[in-house]
Amino acid sequence: MGEADAAGVGVFVSGEAINTKRSRLFASDVIEPIRKNPVWVCVRIPWSKVHRAFPELDRFDDDKCLEFIQLACSKFWRSRMIVGVIGLTVCIATFVALLIGLNTLLDGVFYRTVAERLRSPYYLWLWAGGIAASGAFVGFSGLLIRDRWIRWAVASQIVAARCLNCEYSLLGLTPDAGFVLCPECGQQANLQERGITAEELLA
Ligand SMILES: [Zn+2]
Repeated sequence: MGEADAAGVGVFVSGEAINTKRSRLFASDVIEPIRKNPVWVCVRIPWSKVHRAFPELDRFDDDKCLEFIQLACSKFWRSRMIVGVIGLTVCIATFVALLIGLNTLLDGVFYRTVAERLRSPYYLWLWAGGIAASGAFVGFSGLLIRDRWIRWAVASQIVAARCLNCEYSLLGLTPDAGFVLCPECGQQANLQERGITAEELLA
């Protein structure tokens, strides 16, 4: 299959073939490992292209998808504020707790007296390393919370743009006088009633 595949790509250099190949690669290289190894997810997600986790957005280019993500983020601004404040509070509290733990461990268990601390060549390095590790852990957790929220907002926006009758995705369709005709079942969707703008459909 590998050889036939390679030959196929060589012949069909059309945009569609490249996109199909790319989304297949994404599915095998990114989605599958995420499913198989949840720990790996923690390392990968904050820097991945969030929109490529949604098949409905596959046919749009990165710029269009980023526009979609931005619209979703500003649409759910209340939720973003609440999650932002809670997330930040949790991160700060965790950082403080980690520093207290570090202090207990270093000054309470390993180096109890000032003389011991001054004599040890490792004391300050242990503090510096502990603070850096705590900061990295908390910063990464913050990114993870942010990423989860963006995924939720994008998923909600995708669901909102589905046909109410057959759930076909109306993304990419051009509205006519505020209405979009579902190509699958023929149902008319009134955008104003549904609370969706033409922009949000990526028309
Ligand atoms: Zn429909």
